Amino acid sequence: MGDDGPRWLVSACLLGRACRYDGASKHHQAVEQAVAEARARGIDVVAVCPEQAGGLGTPRPAADLRGGDGHAVLDGHATARTVTGDHDVTDGFLRGAMACDQPADRAILKARSPSCGTGTVWIDGALAPGDGVFAARLRRRGVMLASEEDVQRTDDDR
Ligand code: SF4
Repeated sequence: MGDDGPRWLVSACLLGRACRYDGASKHHQAVEQAVAEARARGIDVVAVCPEQAGGLGTPRPAADLRGGDGHAVLDGHATARTVTGDHDVTDGFLRGAMACDQPADRAILKARSPSCGTGTVWIDGALAPGDGVFAARLRRRGVMLASEEDVQRTDDDR
């Protein structure tokens, strides 16, 4: 629950913001429609990009998780590092996750992102079970998490 009523957090790239590491967006029609319907029902929908909020810049070098998922990063047992150059960008990921965290009932987050991924993320160069850093922070607070693929599936099931 948000401060004043129901609130969703949504990965900004899914709503068309050009905030991805490569300077592109990942606009997703089904998410945009779900957001429009939610807003019409009075739900406060906030677009967030934890990697931009963490000061990592756009465009920025692609990064993935090393040694564990976002929960392990939050606990200090894993890192986020650039794919090329192997620079440690963990601080930016943590800063961004903290900056974008706010009271919410639900989040729709970009699948497999090292920040926003829910349930499956790239770890040590391979897809593995786990959450991105921001998603892990939200899950620990009990926010209901979904990806754009879940929204798509719900749409397809109608
Ligand atoms: Fe999208 Fe999240 Fe990556 Fe930002 S951090 S570009 S919102 S997936």
